[in-house]
Amino acid sequence: MTHSFDTPTGHDQHGRYPEATTVDDFRRNLAAVQARIEAACRRVDRDPATVRLLPVSKTKPEASLRLAHAAGCRMLGENKVQEAQRKWEAMQDLADLQWSVIGHLQTNKAKQVARFASEFQALDSLRVAQALERRLQIEGRSLDVFVQINTSGEASKYGLAPEDAPAFIDALPAFPALRVRGLMTLAVFSSEAERVRRCFIALRQLRDRLRQHAPAGMSLDDLSMGMSGDFEIAIEEGATVVRVGQAIFGARPLPDSHYWPDAAGSVLSSG
Ligand SMILES: *Cc1c(COP(=O)(O)O)cnc(C)c1O
Repeated sequence: MTHSFDTPTGHDQHGRYPEATTVDDFRRNLAAVQARIEAACRRVDRDPATVRLLPVSKTKPEASLRLAHAAGCRMLGENKVQEAQRKWEAMQDLADLQWSVIGHLQTNKAKQVARFASEFQALDSLRVAQALERRLQIEGRSLDVFVQINTSGEASKYGLAPEDAPAFIDALPAFPALRVRGLMTLAVFSSEAERVRRCFIALRQLRDRLRQHAPAGMSLDDLSMGMSGDFEIAIEEGATVVRVGQAIFGARPLPDSHYWPDAAGSVLSSG
């Protein structure tokens, strides 16, 4: 087990969280994260019931996911479609387990997402919206979606530029199988809390502006922002969904730059 508890707060979480290997480990980690959520809510006078914790199980083996389920997790976030589908297929016996796809999607994978996912948090193109709609109609399903926004301005990050969001939102009622819940973002990977916070503020302010002209029936209530290294800041700035992996499951064996190429270099250059 690798862990060094002197890692500073921020995004370079590599090795910080010990691997959860028992149901009790998961219960304890979930309780600890929940306590941090509640403390963050108290600081800004929010009701903790308005923040949903989405456990992120990417890179973790099926056995870990089963322990998380036994500890009470009923929806898991995965950032790669193939990995998510493989896990979904292997865990058909857990009928109450739902899947949230939180990573970039190529149109040729829309078919799989339409089949097994309950939620998709990284919508950033109309081509993907169209592909999902078509497949969802075939499956007779619908899907909760979040529009991903690039709030950090980093060219390497996915998501729409904030200025492209209004026209994009206006186009979404053409896809009735997509239930638009709100916006999602990844903050800059930095140990400077103020730079991270600016990304979260930008998402909230964009949402507030979009709401004034949003298509009928689209409330844009949800803001999915914050992960293990920064979810308290996100909650202070209005997050209604926090996506937390390592603080629940344990550190991934390799840093994010390995699994998640768009994060490569950012920790070094900005932290
Ligand atoms: C991996 C991931 C997370 C969770 O990150 P942790 O550091 O494990 O909490 C959140 N959001 C997205 C999009 C991810 O890919």
